[in-house]
Amino acid sequence: MRIGFIGLGAMGYPMARHLAKEHDVIVWNRTREKAERHAREHKTRLAKDLAETADADVIITMLPTSKEVDEIVDKLLPSVRRGTLWIDATSGDPNVSRLTSKRLAEKGVQFVDAPVTGAVVGAENATLTIMMGGTPEDFERARDVLRVNGKTLIHVGPVGSGHAIKVLTNSIMGATVWITSECLLLAKQLGIDIKTALAVTNAGSGRSNASENLLPMRLAEGKWPLVFKLAHHDKDIRIALSLAHQQHASTPLLALTSQLFSASLHELGDQADYIEVAKIVARMNGTEW
Ligand code: NDP
Repeated sequence: MRIGFIGLGAMGYPMARHLAKEHDVIVWNRTREKAERHAREHKTRLAKDLAETADADVIITMLPTSKEVDEIVDKLLPSVRRGTLWIDATSGDPNVSRLTSKRLAEKGVQFVDAPVTGAVVGAENATLTIMMGGTPEDFERARDVLRVNGKTLIHVGPVGSGHAIKVLTNSIMGATVWITSECLLLAKQLGIDIKTALAVTNAGSGRSNASENLLPMRLAEGKWPLVFKLAHHDKDIRIALSLAHQQHASTPLLALTSQLFSASLHELGDQADYIEVAKIVARMNGTEW
């Protein structure tokens, strides 16, 4: 199968590498050096320009937001071929993806939103969970392509459903990281050793991915790697909140989480990792971890 892959960032780079083991993958990236390196190291083909990625059975986008995806769709619309499947693996906005899907359908191109979860390590090890929105037939087609990237591939519902559930699950994680950081800081202020506080939390009902995997390294060992940009996480929670507004839903904790993440982004800047919100929790208490 010929695949045009657009967006070789932290997630896209390893995803395209796995796809190239089974398919003829042509890569394009805004910063061309990354695409050149990918082609050199992983036997992919370097697209001479963006339009060349449209000469494919499947186009995959892995970009920051639906805005960048839409810009790429604008540029590729004149070149796309009838029958092509467009898989958008970006964590995007379901409202935008439904419009994108309609625009592409007019050109005979099917669209599936297929955001992923599992972080960079999941993309590297091809163990991502991939949640997809589209018709059952398009889902089957997309699953056949993305099975090399993930362990769990789920059909969520029509176009937009994958993007919707993705931002909701990231919102759950955001609120969990925040409340866990607050309570662990309070434990520390009460004189409880942080490793003990984590051990008790993880042996009890406060246990979560945040307490088991995300926070121990940062809070107990002082290591703060960049694995997922806070800017991306903030964007996901803001999309979730916009969906809540659209549904006239009452989601006060979601609204507060969004406010806290946006404020943290202003404080920490574009290049901060999402777990660095724990630093803001500490700063709000006049201390550090
Ligand atoms: P990165 O910031 O690492 O990469 C973004 C990619 O998009 C780069 O290839 C970048 O190109 C490209 N890009 C940015 N702006 C534009 C533009 N205007 N036009 C064309 N290309 C552009 O992001 P990630 O790979 O981390 O994330 C991608 C998506 O996956 C996001 O929606 C994120 O929320 C989601 N995600 C990320 C996870 C993670 O752990 N990182 C986990 C799960 C989902 P360039 O190289 O030129 O900058």
